[in-house]
Amino acid sequence: MTTTELNPLLDFTGLPRFSAIEAEHIAPAVELLLSENRARIEVLTRPGTPATWADFVAPLEDANERLARAWGVVGHLHGVLDSPELRSAYNANQPKVVQYYTELGQNLVLFEKYKALKVSPEYAALVPAQCKIVDNEIRDFRLSGAELAPSMQRRFAAISEELAHLATKFSENLLDATKAFALHVEDQSKLAGIPEDVLETARAAADKDGKSGWKFSLQAPAYVPFMQYAAERELREQMYRAYVTRASEFGKPELDNTPLITQILSLHHEAAQLLGYANHAEVSLVPKMAQTPRQVLDFLNDLAAKALPFARKDYAELGEFAAAELGLAQLEAWDLAYASEKLRAARYAFSDQEVKQFFPEAKVMQGMFRVVETIFGVRIRPDAAETWDPAVRFFRVSDLHGNLLGQFYLDPYARDTKRGGAWMDEAISRRRLGGRVQTPVAYLTCNFSAPVGGKPALFTHDEVLTLFHEFGHGLHHLLTRVDYLGVSGLHGVEWDAVELPSQFMENFCWEWEVLAHMTAHVDSGEPLPRALYDKMLAAKNFQSGMQTVRQLEFSLFDMHLHYDFDVNGGKTPQQLLDEIRSRVAVAIPPAYNRFQNNFSHIFAGGYGAGYYSYKWAEVLSADAYGLFEENGVLDDRSGKRFCDEILAVGGSRPALESFKAFRGREPTVDALLRHSGMIGA
Ligand code: ZN
Repeated sequence: MTTTELNPLLDFTGLPRFSAIEAEHIAPAVELLLSENRARIEVLTRPGTPATWADFVAPLEDANERLARAWGVVGHLHGVLDSPELRSAYNANQPKVVQYYTELGQNLVLFEKYKALKVSPEYAALVPAQCKIVDNEIRDFRLSGAELAPSMQRRFAAISEELAHLATKFSENLLDATKAFALHVEDQSKLAGIPEDVLETARAAADKDGKSGWKFSLQAPAYVPFMQYAAERELREQMYRAYVTRASEFGKPELDNTPLITQILSLHHEAAQLLGYANHAEVSLVPKMAQTPRQVLDFLNDLAAKALPFARKDYAELGEFAAAELGLAQLEAWDLAYASEKLRAARYAFSDQEVKQFFPEAKVMQGMFRVVETIFGVRIRPDAAETWDPAVRFFRVSDLHGNLLGQFYLDPYARDTKRGGAWMDEAISRRRLGGRVQTPVAYLTCNFSAPVGGKPALFTHDEVLTLFHEFGHGLHHLLTRVDYLGVSGLHGVEWDAVELPSQFMENFCWEWEVLAHMTAHVDSGEPLPRALYDKMLAAKNFQSGMQTVRQLEFSLFDMHLHYDFDVNGGKTPQQLLDEIRSRVAVAIPPAYNRFQNNFSHIFAGGYGAGYYSYKWAEVLSADAYGLFEENGVLDDRSGKRFCDEILAVGGSRPALESFKAFRGREPTVDALLRHSGMIGA
């Protein structure tokens, strides 16, 4: 028997063999692939190996693809079919895989080979996608310090290690500080307004401590509804104060993130200077779509100027409502979520539950496929494959002549063995192998409620948005026409542009023309009533001005911290944040608020000088969708263009070029403002 017959993880001839894969296959597959890859790299880095595409890049891609595919299946199963055996095999092998990629990134001989290829006559003969792959590799080696003199390289490595350590410490402190506080309530009369399920959880939490009464933690599932619903103002204030002072000087000194913030900022700054950049913001933007920190700041400030009048209006309305209806003469930070929830309920009298009855699963899927088939000129049909759970569906996407373009799995329902959230992942990526094209395969994973009581599964409108969002990522992967792995589909797409197709797809969920075909009441079969649709649409932009300026406040703070803020300049991060708030915020928090001490996105999550990406991608997706608003929601000519210029090209050219090729101009914020109801003050 051959190895692949023995170990299904090593079978790369087709779709993953889910019914044969067991946890015991993981360690031998990883070991074999890692040793084969290391042996291959040893040969590739010999002086005698020519630095050409065929002799060097392609064999390296082949080797890395095998590992990525096998480990991808393992990672996927770890996410959707967690078992004690699988978890322990995953955890035992993950460090080996991470170690391999670290070695790869530090292999300076590989770096030299890429550089040699770049200056060789062959480079001029490569197609643009190949050139992009070579350029990206060289860029990434440079950004990890490969070109520094040995002594500087050692310092750079020490900084990287220290930054990784500080990031871990930052999030651990936050986690420990979150756990360190709980509000314990004995008097039931103080719990008015809080939903029953939240109370039940709080009751069980107190029980677990051997106490009577209710215990509310600062974790989101308790904190968020508490702040939205608890009528007792003084308790809201207690919870708020505890929440916004986590990991600060007001708590345990050993959990204080304040000194970590300074260290992280100064180490990032030092690393940037070693690489020859003026600051960390410049480094962060090298592989992104935005060109300069100034451009990002201008973008954020411009959007702030446009959003502020709406934010002020939102805030004034909330204040008037709170004074007139809730007896809150002065809105405090701990009143915002509470008063907003009351205002929302008063203004838009409908519930998620009511809307949900119109979105049975089959109708939603059919409606979504109709949109995609119409605008992109493809066909989506059920297909057969081995899966990991009976609820998983499998589909094929073909062109109008029946040629296979790609396939995808859809795993819709929540399960005990599945991690939370929704995501798209790659099983197989498109590439050309000699005369044959390897077609892409995607996993779409969601956590919707499974059907109960013989009725079909019903989706909330939020869940429908999620489904469209993930399908947008899926289409980016499936409809690529790039022949080279490194930039096909989402590979190599700048991360401030990667949410373009996903957020773009969400827009269709708000179109009457789409919803009329995508809804059927679970009992009567009636489509969504127009009156209910109008209410949903009105509620869509509730407080969008306030939400926008809040995101802008965080984005501006992040960008300034990493651009023109000097940690040794006498000003504190708190003072910088206060300045930004005085310019763009409408609700100024109390002086004890230490938001920065729990801003883990930028201090522990890799978003440093990148938080703006959320808004940036929203501008692109809204503006792209604008063409469909101009030409008709289901216009197939616009769809073909979106497919050709954005989805098909993947990471083979800069996202800005792709956008301009699609839209015929640079992106503008107008569509986003219009979609958020922020136009014509
Ligand atoms: Zn996404």
